[in-house]
Parts: sequence; structure tokens; C-alpha cells
Amino acid sequence: MRILSLLLLTGTLLLTTACIKVETTTEESETQETTMTDNALTEDGKYPITDGAEPTKPEATEFYEPVPPKVTPGDAFAEAPSDATILFDGNSLEKWEQAGDGSDPQWTLNDDGSMTVVPGTGDLRTREAFGSCQLHLEWKIPADIEGEGQDRGNSGVFFQERYEIQILDNYENKTYVNGQAGAVYKQHVPLANACKPAGEWQSYDIIFHAPQLNDAGERTQAGAFTVFHNGVLIQDHVPIRGTVEYIGWPRNEAHGDAPLKLQDHDHRVSFRNIWLREL
Ligand code: MG
Repeated sequence: MRILSLLLLTGTLLLTTACIKVETTTEESETQETTMTDNALTEDGKYPITDGAEPTKPEATEFYEPVPPKVTPGDAFAEAPSDATILFDGNSLEKWEQAGDGSDPQWTLNDDGSMTVVPGTGDLRTREAFGSCQLHLEWKIPADIEGEGQDRGNSGVFFQERYEIQILDNYENKTYVNGQAGAVYKQHVPLANACKPAGEWQSYDIIFHAPQLNDAGERTQAGAFTVFHNGVLIQDHVPIRGTVEYIGWPRNEAHGDAPLKLQDHDHRVSFRNIWLREL
């Protein structure tokens, strides 16, 4: 059965220019492989893999192909322009708070102008709320990182506390492609893998257009992400389908401006030079 489906998959790959292989785990714990064109993500952010039923397992929304081409990037570190809101310049964490309870940040402020996740302390968020914006942020995975897949230098930057651009060490680390570095988590695969090795500073430049939602939580206008990773375009004005969900479909809920959030995923990821310009 698996061989047959692999043959079918190979044939389909020859016939179509862009295919996604989806590995879903059935209740019998067999692995099924399904092919679909990469525009199969619906307006609601659903993948047509369960006849519309909401998946109950994370694997149901994890894709492994197509693998984004690897690109060796240059540096794209950028000083804040004159009209930027400085969120972190290395001097203090005063613009941030614990996302869980609003208390003072428990992450480490380092001598080199960076801050580092203290695993287990929880996410940080800005004290201020933001709408649409241009964000610059630099991040580093520690050189002595261990682990694999999602368990390797995982963090993330969440806009309005809901919409994540993944941070992960994918220099030589395979994971589901809609969850690798630069993915709009489980919504959009990055166009390229522009990762630098662990131990080196990297940058994101992100243009975020906030979704518009009515009081009932219905989306009246989709948001969008454009992302540059180390200067390489990896998301080209892709629509935001809703909240990023580990299990199940994206959701929409009424909200206005909200903080920017950095994820504590139990890994010692560092950040520096974070600024944004409101749009
Ligand atoms: Mg993450």
C-alpha cells in the first residue's frame, strides 16, 4: 500500500509543477501520503485532508514537501531608522513583560546587547499594543544546540499575540516545511531556506498587515505577511488564515491592536536589535 502510494506520488510529481506531500496519521497509526497542489489551502486555512473534519492530531497539518531551496544568505542587520519604535536596543527590557501575567521579564539581559530566553519562564510580550507594522529583529540559536526537528532552537515572533513567524534552527535540520524557520506556522511554507548555522546572528524583516475582524470575530479583511530572512524574500505577501494552531484549523476571533510576543519554547534563543515602524 505504501509502495503503491509512493509510485502514485512519483507520477504525480512528474505531472505537476508544484505538489505537496502530506503525511497524515490515521487512527490505525498507518501513514498515508496524499498529494495536493500548493494552492489547496482554503480561504479558511484548511487543508483538504479530512473531508473538512477538524484534525485532532498535529501530524495532520504537517507537510514535508516541497522542501524550500537552500540559499546562502548575506548579512541584513539594520540600524533603526529615525521614526522607529525601539523595542530592544540592548540596554533594558523595559518595553517587555511576561506574557502570562504581565510581570517583569525573566529572560536574561546580556552584556553584548542581546537578551536570551530562560527556558521555562514563559513568553515575553511588548507592554505596548500594535497594529500593522514593519518589524526588524535579529536572533541567534546557541552554537551548542542539540536536538532535532522542532526541538532545535525553537522560538517564534507572534504578531498581535496570535500570528507566528517561526524561529527554528533549520540550517541542517529537517522538519515539516510549513513549520520550518520563516514559515507562517502551519499556514505558509517559506520560499527558501535562508538559515545560517547555529551560533551566527540572523535577521528577520517582516511586514505585517493586521487582519480586520468584526465584533463577532468574523474576518472582514485578511491580514498578510511579507518576510525577509537574512535579506532573502521568503514570504511574499501571503494571506493570514487565522490564528496559528498546533492542532486543528486556524481560528478567527475578535481583537484589535495587541502586543508583539516572543516565544519561550524551552530553548536558549537570543534576540537583539528589535524595532518596528507602525504602518
Ligand atoms: Mg516556534
